[in-house]
Amino acid sequence: MKILVINCGSSSLKYQLIDMENDSVLAKGLCERIGIDGSKLTQKSDEKGEYVIDQPMPNHDVAVSRVLSALQDATYGVIKSTDEISAVGHRVLHGGQKYSASVVVDDELKKFVKDSFDLGPLHMPANLIGIEACQAAMPNVPHVAVFDTAFHQTMPPKAYLYAIPREYYEKYGVRRYGFHGTSHSFVSKRAYEVGNLDPDNSKVIVCHLGNGASVSAVVNGKCVDTSMGLTPLEGLIMGTRSGDIDPAVVEFVANKEGLTLSEMLNVLNKKSGVYGMSGGISSDFRDLEAAMNEGNQLAKDTLEAFAYRVAKYIGAYTAAMNGVDGICFTAGLGENDKNMRKLIVSYLGYLGAEIDDEANAIRGKEVVISTPSSKVKLMVIPTNEELAIAQETLALIK
Ligand code: AMP
Repeated sequence: MKILVINCGSSSLKYQLIDMENDSVLAKGLCERIGIDGSKLTQKSDEKGEYVIDQPMPNHDVAVSRVLSALQDATYGVIKSTDEISAVGHRVLHGGQKYSASVVVDDELKKFVKDSFDLGPLHMPANLIGIEACQAAMPNVPHVAVFDTAFHQTMPPKAYLYAIPREYYEKYGVRRYGFHGTSHSFVSKRAYEVGNLDPDNSKVIVCHLGNGASVSAVVNGKCVDTSMGLTPLEGLIMGTRSGDIDPAVVEFVANKEGLTLSEMLNVLNKKSGVYGMSGGISSDFRDLEAAMNEGNQLAKDTLEAFAYRVAKYIGAYTAAMNGVDGICFTAGLGENDKNMRKLIVSYLGYLGAEIDDEANAIRGKEVVISTPSSKVKLMVIPTNEELAIAQETLALIK
């Protein structure tokens, strides 16, 4: 059975066609600059190689039809007909308080997404357009919505309520939701096998460290806390997002710089994080490490602040769970940067956490990176959000 996974951004569409017999990726691709000059589709397949289409994509409907043509292309395609696609899994940013699990797309789901644009002004409209475009192109297959927030819906009120007037929660649903849910769910489940933990008696912390970054605390498979909030802006320092700051900074800087509220939020989302903190060196951790190795003090301070914030969240979540059995590192930075992992673990001596330098240097696979005598299992577990979406989709249509 083949499942198509679709992830729509405001001007992009990422996709993967996955063969569920062996979890292999038949083809994956990216449509860029949808609705902007210079649209481009790039598809990659191990078997058929790279296929690039440089043709205008004025909207997501056209992008979806290009994706389906590319998948069926006589030379570069991997299927003969869309009849081979059994279902489509759509990544949806926000399920609000309504959706704590994936659902088959119906009118109620589409109405929810439409009514919830303000929960994700960039992603939610694109998610809806993607769903409707795919439904129009493939009306006879089930479409499933998989939410970034759903895994975190098991958090108790003490973790998700903000200390602001209650009416904002009651009237507008202002609370912590958390994001990267498919990744936290996928990685925490893999941790049981990789770390040889008992799924029914386990306390796991997942550190999803990429351009966007978040931490979650998972007890016996259920999320009890996570660092992102109403939006993905809260929590860790990220590529360009500030993470936690004193909210009073917003008014203070806005007054000094003559910025509006939405301009300030743009600064916190797009010009802050390691990019802003380093004085604009880069949002990419590889560039920051290169700068640090050339003696740049700002880059060093920034990387230390990033690790320090992650370590503080690990400490907080260990307290929240009254212990921790496994700590997992995942996503671009978490999977690839042994120096960052080592720096973070250097704060965890009080937990009896010991890193094994040789294991920590292994790349690209699931691996325990703690020593046999470490009191907590440290693991690197590559995330696979597309496979997780495909698995959720399969589970719902079976
Ligand atoms: P993601 O959002 O999960 O795709 O992660 C992307 C980020 O991971 C990039 O912006 C890099 O900063 C970081 N990254 C990827 N590979 C490495 C590496 N080898 N060393 C350090 N950082 C890396």
